[in-house]
Amino acid sequence: MCELGEERGLCGWNCKHSYYAFVDGFSTRTYTDEQLEELEAKEQEQHEYKGKSYNAYQASQAQRQMETTMRAQRANIKNLKQGNADSDTIVAAQARYLNTLNQYKDFSKKMKLPEQIERVYMDGLGRIAGGKSTKAVTKKQEEKAINHTLKNAVGKDIIQVEKTTLNSSPNSITQKTSKKGGVERNYYDNQGKQIKQISNNNHGNAKMHPYGKKGEHAHDYIYDADNKLIGRPTRELTKEERRMLIYYDVIRAKKKNK
Ligand SMILES: [Zn+2]
Repeated sequence: MCELGEERGLCGWNCKHSYYAFVDGFSTRTYTDEQLEELEAKEQEQHEYKGKSYNAYQASQAQRQMETTMRAQRANIKNLKQGNADSDTIVAAQARYLNTLNQYKDFSKKMKLPEQIERVYMDGLGRIAGGKSTKAVTKKQEEKAINHTLKNAVGKDIIQVEKTTLNSSPNSITQKTSKKGGVERNYYDNQGKQIKQISNNNHGNAKMHPYGKKGEHAHDYIYDADNKLIGRPTRELTKEERRMLIYYDVIRAKKKNK
């Protein structure tokens, strides 16, 4: 479930509350016993998404998390545009938002839950990604934008740090390396704000990081309109990020052997 929202999200899920009892404007008293039984059965119904099973409450929670993510992604796009970020950065941010949107639609459909996209659009930011259609940014364009960002990173100095901080020099990359070879690499945007972290390990917390082969994973940093960090959802590394991590390991091994 982690990949849909925040680390602390459904992974730590233990709430037994009923989803349907909390739908706005519904009063459970208007139901007959028979209807209640039916609802209860419906609540327990499990639907699959990407190999994981959700009941109605879990699915609705995942929807809320994705809506929160999308609001943050939209706010981030607005900030990037206002900060005159370069177009690759903006396109990459738009692509991330549109990917979440597509995932949200797909997920809602599979869960047989209505979309509540108005919870996202209530930010009043309007159409913030692409032109006429939400398909304005294709998978190819997204990959191109991400590759471009990474290619830039190859030629860049990586600043070794003792501690990871939320702010650093604009467009910099820092890295915290543990004695055991654990790497946390941090990416900062043109305002010096952290936007991403890539790790080659699970920070010793395997339960929260069921990713990769050795727990390697990425966090995207999500800010609200006031630049307050509101989440750092965990995800699998992309192919490119994986390659970068391997690239780095090779360089490091070569240096060591010199
Ligand atoms: Zn992590």
